[in-house]
Parts: sequence; C-alpha cells; structure tokens
Amino acid sequence: MASRQGSKSRKAGLKGADSTASSTTSSSKLYQETSIDGHSSPASSSAQSKQQFFSPDPLPQTAQRSKENVTVTVRFRPLSPREIRQGEEVAWYADGETIVRNEHNPTIAYAYDRVFGPTTTTRNVYDIAAHHVVNGAMEGINGTIFAYGVTSSGKTHTMHGDQRSPGIIPLAVKDAFSIIQETPNREFLLRISYMEIYNEVVNDLLNPAGHNLRIREDKQGTFVEGIKEEVVLSPAHALSLIAAGEEQRHVGSTNFNLLSSRSHTIFTLTIESSPLGDKSKGEAVHLSQLNLVDLAGSESSKVETSGVRRKEGSYINKSLLTLGTVISKLTDVRASHVPYRDSKLTRILQSSLSGHDRVSLICTVTPASSSSEETHNTLKFAHRAKHIEIQAEQNK
Ligand code: ADP
Ligand code: MG
Repeated sequence: MASRQGSKSRKAGLKGADSTASSTTSSSKLYQETSIDGHSSPASSSAQSKQQFFSPDPLPQTAQRSKENVTVTVRFRPLSPREIRQGEEVAWYADGETIVRNEHNPTIAYAYDRVFGPTTTTRNVYDIAAHHVVNGAMEGINGTIFAYGVTSSGKTHTMHGDQRSPGIIPLAVKDAFSIIQETPNREFLLRISYMEIYNEVVNDLLNPAGHNLRIREDKQGTFVEGIKEEVVLSPAHALSLIAAGEEQRHVGSTNFNLLSSRSHTIFTLTIESSPLGDKSKGEAVHLSQLNLVDLAGSESSKVETSGVRRKEGSYINKSLLTLGTVISKLTDVRASHVPYRDSKLTRILQSSLSGHDRVSLICTVTPASSSSEETHNTLKFAHRAKHIEIQAEQNK
C-alpha cells in the first residue's frame, strides 16, 4: 500500500555501523548522533523487570499461515485518579495469561497470548508484542500493530506515549535504526507516511493538502494515491515529522479529543533494503511495511441524537467489525474470502494483512467496574480475532 511515488533512489541509504562500504553516508552519521529518549540500550533488550502477570519470553517468530503470525494481547491500565475518586472497583483482573471477571457467577475467564497488568511498562509491552513485528519488517516481512479499545482505555498511551513513557511508535522507530546499525551487510532506505481515516475519508497528516485520498490497486497491491512519503534519516527526524502530523490534526479540528476517539491513524514505515557489495548474486531486495495503528474508540454507540455522531459510529463499527473478521481469517488455515474491501482501514492495510504477515493486536482495557461491559466487549473482540476457546465458564 502507500504511495508508489517514493523513489527507489539509494541516495539516502542507511548502512550498518560496521559496513565495509568505503564511504560513510551523512545519514548514518546523523543517526549515530541521535537519541530519542536518552536510552542507550536497544529497544529489543529483554524485559528489565519481571512483574506480576508478566513473563518476558518473546513470542514465537516463525512465519507460516497460522495462529503464530497473529499475536493477541490485552493491556490493563491502572484505575485512573478519577475512577479511584469515584470509588470504582476492579471488575476484571489478570491471572497469568487469563482475564477473570471479579464478583461474577458464573465465572467468566478468557485466555490470550499475553496479558499485561497495570504496572507493566510500555517497553515491556514492546518487547513482547511489538519487537518481533518490527524485526520481521526489517527482514522483509510486512507487519502491523493495532491498539484496540474504548476511548481512554490507553491506546494512545500505548502507541504514542509521552516523554516519560515512550510508546510503541517511538520505540519501533528507534529499534528500526538500531537494527540497521546491527546489519552491516545491507543498506536500507526508510520512508514514513502518516494518515488518518475519519468517516471513511483518508487524510494525509504529513501534507495539509492531502484530503480525501483515493485507494488504488496495482500489481503490487493496494496503495493510497498521492500520499506523501518522507525519507527519514534518524529516529529524531521521523519523530519530528510525526509530531508535525499530530499538530496538523489538532489545528484541523475544533474538538480534538472527539476527533481522536472517532478516527483511526495509520503510521507506516516503509523499509527497503538490499545487500551491500556484489549485487550480481541476485540476492533479494526486500520491500516491506510496518504499520502502527491507533484505532478509533470501540465503544458501542449509545442512542445518538445527532446524525453526525450516528454516522461516525456506524463507520467505526463497520471498520472495526471488518478488522476483526479479517484478522480472524488470517488465523484460520481454511479461510476463504477475506472481506478487505468492506472498510478503508482493511483495504489500505490489505497488502500487510496476508497470512504470511505478522500482526499484533494489543487490546487496552480499564479494570474499572463502570466500564465492565465495554471491557467485556473488548475481551470478546480479542478472543474472536484468534479463535481462542473460552477458558472457563463455570459455576463457582
Ligand atoms: P485512548 O487513546 O484509548 O483514548 P489514552 O491513551 O489517551 O486512551 O489514555 C487515557 C488516560 O489514561 C491518559 O491520561 C493516559 O495517560 C492514561 N493511561 C492509559 N494507559 C495507561 C497506563 N498503562 N499506565 C498509566 N496511565 C495510562
Ligand atoms: Mg487516543
């Protein structure tokens, strides 16, 4: 997907640190001087702290059309200060990789690939649920990471984070550049695009003029026509472009919080790499995409009085429902028709959502009792995405 306008030029190629190539490009030098958060260790380092609910083993990395390519995890956020003030209780809690409903008879429990408790850091989440996808993308396997959940469950905290707790997007960008440094035998070209889908309209966040872009298809797959792609030379460079894109979203909306809960954003890193040195051996040039997606809030639309809200809600429901169906088909070896065309989100991501690509679905939830039913809906969505059997539904 994305644009076909990106040049195949190697001018901005990034080479590994120990590259045997005689010239050092200014771009790799630029990278060495840059650090996003002052962290010197690679983002792939194993989890620093072992916590309750959390085990640091990485997930399987093999790539066949199977459940192994799709990782479904659930992340609890802590009760918010407001929830605590309101005397909210914990309605759902983690027990190993299972989530159990508190004070409920019959007991309901769901199992996932991994469950992250409220004290797990985003870096821990990254190591388990994102690093293998980023690594695969750097080796030529398309990958997509979704944050799914109701508004204020922690999607943006997980994907973007902040200065103190960087999210998966900055960690992935940094990891990608670290991998380049560790891969001396190949040269890389990285490009980014950043878009928003609101009411099934695709807008370019890196280009204010890029409104209502069309999705097209050619022999290589689907792509967004005319979307801007920027070659990036360092993590800081990539992150400054994302920040500018976020700024554009703010400026363009009268109520940013509403917009952000009602739209999907897709950040795409396109990775092109080729072997250094003797190209006559015909070794593969890799072209792959890493998509990092902050989904619209999955809350079920209440009885909406306004037509605008109703319309938004129905677009969101349709695209999230389609996404759930598409992912569930990827984990089913017998799957026949995959309904990519039923939403712009899945249509745009179609080339990265085949059975051979890596997908990580991170579902964010609050333990709070007032959101208990919405949390249950999220848990069911996550379950359906991977055809996981219900673990326990028995009388206490
Ligand atoms: P969403 O994007 O799903 O609407 P946010 O990511 O904006 O939700 O999270 C809502 C609030 O909860 C924010 O203030 C955020 O900082 C906080 N929050 C979310 N997840 C966590 C977490 N795991 N740990 C601490 N605070 C969190
Ligand atoms: Mg958000």
